[in-house]
Amino acid sequence: MRINSEYEKMPGSYLFAEVARRLKVYKEQHPDADIIRLGIGDVTQPLVPKVIEAMHKAVDEMGNADTFRGYGPDFGYDFLVNAIRDNDYAPLGIALDYDEVFISDGAKCDVGNIQELFSQDAMIAITDPVYPVYVDSNAMAGRAGNYIQDRWDRLVYLPCNAENGFIPPLPESKVDVIYLCYPNNPTGTVLTKAQLKVFVDWAKENDAIIIFDAAYKAFITQKEIPHSIYEVEGARDVAIECCSYSKTAGFTGTRCAYTIIPHEVCGKNAKGEKVEINAMWKRRMATKFNGVSYPVQRAAEAIYTPEGKAQVEQVIDGYLANARVIREGLLARGIQAYGGENSPYIWLKVPGMDSWSFFDTLLDRCHVVGTPGAGFGPSGEGYFRLTAFNTAEATREAVARFDRLK
Ligand code: PLP
Repeated sequence: MRINSEYEKMPGSYLFAEVARRLKVYKEQHPDADIIRLGIGDVTQPLVPKVIEAMHKAVDEMGNADTFRGYGPDFGYDFLVNAIRDNDYAPLGIALDYDEVFISDGAKCDVGNIQELFSQDAMIAITDPVYPVYVDSNAMAGRAGNYIQDRWDRLVYLPCNAENGFIPPLPESKVDVIYLCYPNNPTGTVLTKAQLKVFVDWAKENDAIIIFDAAYKAFITQKEIPHSIYEVEGARDVAIECCSYSKTAGFTGTRCAYTIIPHEVCGKNAKGEKVEINAMWKRRMATKFNGVSYPVQRAAEAIYTPEGKAQVEQVIDGYLANARVIREGLLARGIQAYGGENSPYIWLKVPGMDSWSFFDTLLDRCHVVGTPGAGFGPSGEGYFRLTAFNTAEATREAVARFDRLK
């Protein structure tokens, strides 16, 4: 058996492995250090009571012959699909057809798998720094070229930095697909409707599609920031939107997400004829996926009940309060910080050193762990990511220790 040789081109998943290695070495040398982790991208608060109640009830149903369920629908149960249409989209003035919603076990799977629908020679643009799944899934499929120094030579990088206000420039060459993630991981920054419209218009004019990752939409606090790309006129023609309950409702270990593919979004076949991406995705999901478990879909549905909404909002507000503490703590100490207002991520400008040196400095002086920006792409160098997912107490303590950076 010959392997897919594209895998041999992949750099190791260096970032978190290297963070863990440096942390281990430090702990061996400083066994008494009380280390606070602000590098984690995982939630820490438990599932809310309404979700647990719904999951328990569904588990009981599975143990009773009258209410037992076997294989569910490939694209999700009606109750969850309709809860999404009615609660996440209708209030925004967005009407979705029932079969435009696909329930899945994670946004990571969806943003990673969607590239199977693109031609082998499709050109891909990503914002830089970036959530690595968009890059790696295309690299594994052979679309990214070769990894030379710190970048793939067949990907189009759209640098986002303090100089351009973290607003990605449009691609300067022909691309077929643009991945956008807002609120952004890792920078924590957002785009307005007008800024997103520039991309929607470009995609229309250039026969491209947008994969819009909205995994962090629950953290949006500013009214003018869109929760969905479909709030932008024309987006239904060109955009696929991936959402997740992971950060919205603490489902990182429970696993449930959804992707929206409007019927208007089309690619072209070899004859130049239009082909609906929605139909292709249905075909793919029906072949390779057997649905999310019934208790988990019931758990997700419970997020949309009035109590569920209020309980989930309280958890998000807690994370946002942590984000504010970190952001303001950095700014008060003269460290430039971005994000954290509509996002659990704070992206700071590293003062006078590279991002790995700052990792070591922060660990040594403050006993705080974060994530070096260089790990998210070439434009991440010089920046550093802190996250708001730790407890309020640990977050406050970590910020107080930033005084030792002076
Ligand atoms: N998209 C982005 C931008 C993320 O940061 C993450 C997780 O960190 C995911 C998707 C993964 O979501 P899920 O847990 O639904 O697979």
